Amino acid sequence: MGVLKSSRGTRVRYRRVVTATLRQEWESVRMLPPSLRAQCPNTRKHLSFDPLVHQIRQRAEQIPDSHVGSGDYLLADAIMAGFAMFSLKDPSLLAFQDRRKDENMKRLYRVAEVPSDTRTRELLDPLDPDRLRPMFPDVLRQLQRGKGLEAFVFHEGYYLLSVDATEYFSSQKISCSSCLRRTTKSTGAVTFFHQVLAAVLVHPDRKEVIPFAPEPIIKQDGDNKNDCERNAAKRLLPRIREDHPSLKLIVIEDGWASNAPHIRLLQELDFRFLLVVHPEDHEHLFEAVSKAHDEDGRVTLVCWNDERDPEVRCEIRFVHDLPLNKSNPDVRVNFLHYVEYGPDGEIRRIMSWVTDLIITKENARWLVRGARARWKIENETFNTLQNQGYHFEHNYGHGEQHLSVVFAMLMVLAFLVDQTQQICCPLFQAVHKKLGSKRVLWERLRSHFYHFVFRSMRQLYEVVLYDLAKELPLFPGSLVSPQCVP
Ligand SMILES: [Zn+2]
Repeated sequence: MGVLKSSRGTRVRYRRVVTATLRQEWESVRMLPPSLRAQCPNTRKHLSFDPLVHQIRQRAEQIPDSHVGSGDYLLADAIMAGFAMFSLKDPSLLAFQDRRKDENMKRLYRVAEVPSDTRTRELLDPLDPDRLRPMFPDVLRQLQRGKGLEAFVFHEGYYLLSVDATEYFSSQKISCSSCLRRTTKSTGAVTFFHQVLAAVLVHPDRKEVIPFAPEPIIKQDGDNKNDCERNAAKRLLPRIREDHPSLKLIVIEDGWASNAPHIRLLQELDFRFLLVVHPEDHEHLFEAVSKAHDEDGRVTLVCWNDERDPEVRCEIRFVHDLPLNKSNPDVRVNFLHYVEYGPDGEIRRIMSWVTDLIITKENARWLVRGARARWKIENETFNTLQNQGYHFEHNYGHGEQHLSVVFAMLMVLAFLVDQTQQICCPLFQAVHKKLGSKRVLWERLRSHFYHFVFRSMRQLYEVVLYDLAKELPLFPGSLVSPQCVP
């Protein structure tokens, strides 16, 4: 490496170097003295940082790259540099530029040469975001194979897939050909923005989520929020089914999804569903529920007092086989209704869903918990991406074609790798536990990056876990003595 050329020679040399040193780097090169080795938490063969990043690099190299042989930087290097920026939680492309000569970053993120910020934008702007999509099922398949998904099984072998849209960029000045636009009626001011339809695996008892590749919402999807979500879902859901033909999924979605065409799409794709319904949108359905109350034994009631607060009373009512609405009497659904009363007897929460799952007295409470886990896409995904170091709403560079979408996908990919480590990698879990928060963990990793030479992320984690920084060789040019590092 070290030659700034993207000729075939460089690529072959890069591969040879990477392949030859991979195993050595993340398995053999250990800082640990023998006494600690026995007790140190392990990494997972395919489900830890180093093998996952290697797998992403391999995918990046499969994307056709017209720059190969031109003496220019490689597209794969630009992709890995973008991924590294989000993985390291750098707040901007400019901040990431300080790492251009950082051999640690290049080694750990499998980047041969880091393009300048301008060149990174130029390389990634024309990249069709779809090309990045296979990187997500790659990780998910490893999770499946390594039994990392087992803890996410919700009901009869099914997983919960929460699907919802989010906006991650808006500006009145910056725009690109992929931008959506809205006009303020009173002032005529135009706002440019980007949205994606996201899909994440959730579980009521798990804090982690497992994101799938997000689907960009495009201009042709329509002018109102519901149309946008429904139309983007027509691309997102078939792709998920194509990538995971036998994955058993219960799709949980908000009120925009409880309509006949969407339910038919879910049925065609062999997804089960738990969808929010509101009385104002489904008058006919709620009338049918009222009528069912008059029929003996048609509606089943389950009630209990909340274990954590016995003064809180909870009720579930459910009824099977109702028409979704007047115009689609053939779409039959089961209706699930939850009410929570406070100590004063006032209604605190009231929610309803339609589903194709069979509801029983035994599973009704669990199904309500599953349906309510839908909010994890908001709290554990979008909020995390905005607040826990990922800077989801920052503008890393907008480009003229796809750059904004490409960056959004790389950020979600970095989040997926972090979540996978959190679910599956005992060494990562131990470091996280020791440092107490992810924010401190990212800070600690970044500070070590600047001062010491690392061969692999595994080595870095071990060094952080056992405070071994003083044993390491200083990074050339570093003015900080090893003892100064916390
Ligand atoms: Zn744009």
